Amino acid sequence: MNKPLKQHLIDPEICIRCYTCEMTCPIQAITHDDMNVVVDADKCNFCMDCIPVCPTGSIDEWRVVETPYSLDEQFEWTELPEQAEISGGDDSTEALDEAMAALLAEAHAGAGGKSVAPASASKPSINLHTIGKPVTARVQGNYRLTAEGSDSDVRHIILDMAGAPFPVLEGQSIGIIPPGTDAEGKPHLPRLYSVSSPRDGERPGYANVSLTVKREPHGVGSNYVCDLSKGDEVQVTGPFGATFLLPDDPAARLLMICTGTGSAPFRAFTMRRQRMSAGAAGDMVLFFGARTPDSLPYFGPLKKVPDSLLKKHFAFSRVEGEEKQYVQDRMRAHEDEVAELLADPNTHIYVCGLRGMEAGVDEALANIAESIGLPWVTTRDAMRAEGRYHVETY
Ligand code: FAD
Repeated sequence: MNKPLKQHLIDPEICIRCYTCEMTCPIQAITHDDMNVVVDADKCNFCMDCIPVCPTGSIDEWRVVETPYSLDEQFEWTELPEQAEISGGDDSTEALDEAMAALLAEAHAGAGGKSVAPASASKPSINLHTIGKPVTARVQGNYRLTAEGSDSDVRHIILDMAGAPFPVLEGQSIGIIPPGTDAEGKPHLPRLYSVSSPRDGERPGYANVSLTVKREPHGVGSNYVCDLSKGDEVQVTGPFGATFLLPDDPAARLLMICTGTGSAPFRAFTMRRQRMSAGAAGDMVLFFGARTPDSLPYFGPLKKVPDSLLKKHFAFSRVEGEEKQYVQDRMRAHEDEVAELLADPNTHIYVCGLRGMEAGVDEALANIAESIGLPWVTTRDAMRAEGRYHVETY
């Protein structure tokens, strides 16, 4: 059997046949016939020069395949093929991979019903690398994000996927398998971590991803990850998650609400939009809660992101001499802004972080929605069914 590989494709349903990509490609890997513009898998070297010049985003499609689609096959397409499952684990590991899926479903339960992906989201690849067949990634960096001495040790971890096919979309998670065995002598199950880099990598065009990981007291996985050094090898599964995704539609407005490491997917969303120059002023609003500025991951870099790209509201619950403010308090303090977003059918809401935040945020959203005559549960359920309401808590 061939080794699975990541193949670059163009979505024939969205492509407007402007041929800009073909003119830009420095190695003539892109060609066309009367029907379609296509990428030659034998030539494409993933330089990514074609990605930013495409006016529609149709160029940014990837499939992991056992055998690459030929040019002739691609010329015939009227739509892209679905991502096929790449076989990986044996029977004994399949049950464990299902356990990962169950964990994710539990993380999304706070949305109040079955989660649906945003209508314009790219199609995610899921479960390409299983517990039975993980990818060996290499650590490129491990940087502390919170101040030394703060009670919270949160790390920015960069993993080089070492050329393995690992297409990941903003909002997806990956699994990290801690080495060793549990108290019963069984190998540890993977721990899930949200990817905090955009789909084209922490560094554009490099096959790397970043994570945002908080050290938990005595936690097996989080201590393992937070103690990793540059050059260490790590066993990675995934990607996981098919609904908590960024809409590709640049007109979609995002209301993002998080605590702590729940900021990871929102960093990815923001970087994706920044790189694509997508969205207009006022389209991305972030409510971010932490105990103190010292313990808020990415506080320094976030402050530098211009308000025209991302409007930021920080809530701190443990600043000496100041009244405790939780993320839901901050939302209430800016209820007009939240209400305006809630009333707009282009708005997508994302809630991410510790499970404990769910109830307070839900109550604040309910109060604000009802203040403008929107019955909250009906509104939320309709938004969820339209792929516009997403919760991921753990
Ligand atoms: P475990 O060893 O599994 O322990 C579980 C808990 O028990 C921990 O809180 C630990 O502190 C506590 N505990 C264990 N032993 C003891 C002891 N002897 N005494 C007292 N307490 C103890 N986490 C992130 O940091 N960043 C993310 O982006 C992220 N994304 C996630 C996305 C999803 C979809 C999900 C489901 C989870 C995500 N998590 C994330 C959480 C992550 O998967 C782990 O659950 C977390 O890192 C804790 O794992 P652990 O192995 O360190 O803890």
